[in-house]
Amino acid sequence: MRKDPDMRERGRGRGLTGEESRCLWGDADRAGLGPGRGDVPYIDENGAISVDGLWGFGRAFRNCAPLVRAMSLLPWGGATILRYHSVNDDPGWAGDYVQRSLVVSTDVFDRQVAYLVERHRVVGVPELADAIASGRRVDPRTVAITFDDGYEDNYRCAFPILRKHGATATFYVTTGAISDESILWTVALRHAIRRTESQGLKCGTFGACSIDLSTPRAKEKAIAFITAVVKRSGEREALEIVNEVREACGNSRDTYDSRIMMNPDEIREMHEGGMTIGAHSVTHYNLPSVSTDALVGEVGESKRALEELLGCEVEHFAYPNGRTNRHFDATTAAVVADAGFRSGVTSIAGPVSRRYPVHCLPRLGIVPHDADVRWLAADIQYARLSRPNHSSLREVTASSRSRPTRGGGRDVAGPTGERQEAAS
Ligand SMILES: [Zn+2]
Repeated sequence: MRKDPDMRERGRGRGLTGEESRCLWGDADRAGLGPGRGDVPYIDENGAISVDGLWGFGRAFRNCAPLVRAMSLLPWGGATILRYHSVNDDPGWAGDYVQRSLVVSTDVFDRQVAYLVERHRVVGVPELADAIASGRRVDPRTVAITFDDGYEDNYRCAFPILRKHGATATFYVTTGAISDESILWTVALRHAIRRTESQGLKCGTFGACSIDLSTPRAKEKAIAFITAVVKRSGEREALEIVNEVREACGNSRDTYDSRIMMNPDEIREMHEGGMTIGAHSVTHYNLPSVSTDALVGEVGESKRALEELLGCEVEHFAYPNGRTNRHFDATTAAVVADAGFRSGVTSIAGPVSRRYPVHCLPRLGIVPHDADVRWLAADIQYARLSRPNHSSLREVTASSRSRPTRGGGRDVAGPTGERQEAAS
């Protein structure tokens, strides 16, 4: 993709400041999309690198087991929630449907679960949420496994491995995409761009600019940029952008090769098999970007749909999208709490402890180097000990302290007033 000033202007026009627009380009470069960095190694679903600050420093000590063990005893450590997306061996899946770095093979997942069961206490999110809500200290050896989105391989590949090891996990399902009723927008965008034979993308959203699609690397950069723009957009704009891109790429729903998401029977069977099913919104749009009505609908509708499917209460929620953009704030956390969810998990890495409110629990995203369980061990260790200082976490923490009781005339507007802006 060409880094021309017009393009940055377009990003700015979609709610990105000039600085943020520049950061996006920087992220894409640092994330392995720039020259000489190989194949998108550590880029998460937002196009952000999953390694920063303490992480990078900590990994230097990953083989120093006594130091790592000693540090785990420090009082401010917490448990860890792991964030997976897809377990799949199909070479046509990773890259064309889901970002390559979010897919792990069945062999790798098998090894990781075996390690977790042997060395940690694997529990479900409900148990962790109960401990946090009741103010109990969380055992730092505790780990919870979670999956986002609801891909069909969660049932076909991950579920049998979890059962084999006697482990439990929590699956956060995007309810509007169950059985591919509507194609998850992240998949639709990626599939359209990756499969197109067109060398460039021109559509109304990006004006006269032509986005380079001439190489796989250029396509990844285009996906990262357009994804970031969609996440900054309200629900109507987001849908328009995705449809425009699909049309410009000559891609329609009919071109999907196989089923992408789980169906109701599969979700029900996993629930009956001891897994926890949580909600992940209806459409996967970025919740702080949509209108108040849409936000309340996304949270409440996803809960209602899953409760109807499972015949029991659904009490756990995962905010869609990751940490580069603000994917939750005080308003979204309040709406999630008011809808009756007992916990909300984020995509910000950090320890799960009493330090954070139960509606913004940190999670550690699994990255490709975690295929080596020594790296996974090191990442878990540093997630336990880190102190994330993300503005959304600070905001929800402050807001939850000022609102001791649930319900009762909660003010839906966040302290920054962003909600009113998005709704207007
Ligand atoms: Zn997601």
